[in-house]
Amino acid sequence: MAKLWKISKFVRIYLGFKPDGYSRIGECKRCGKCCAIGIMCPFLFYKGDLAFCRIYNTRPKSCREFPYEPQDIVIGCGYSFYRKRK
Ligand code: SF4
Repeated sequence: MAKLWKISKFVRIYLGFKPDGYSRIGECKRCGKCCAIGIMCPFLFYKGDLAFCRIYNTRPKSCREFPYEPQDIVIGCGYSFYRKRK
């Protein structure tokens, strides 16, 4: 089951699928955990505890906007979500 979850997350990242209904708050703490979901991103590297991206200025939209929804939050992530009012 965990493997299926990782695969579906990877597909969503790849497709840039962004569900409606949530607003994201907070900020990235540069832990790099989301860049290692499923597979380790080849552009990810660390200096001490901080994660860096080799293509940060030209990174895909899907990377800029991840996490998309509460299910994407990994432990320690600086983002959280609240539901938008309808
Ligand atoms: S898991 Fe959250 S805090 Fe860590 S790098 Fe990804 S977005 Fe930033």
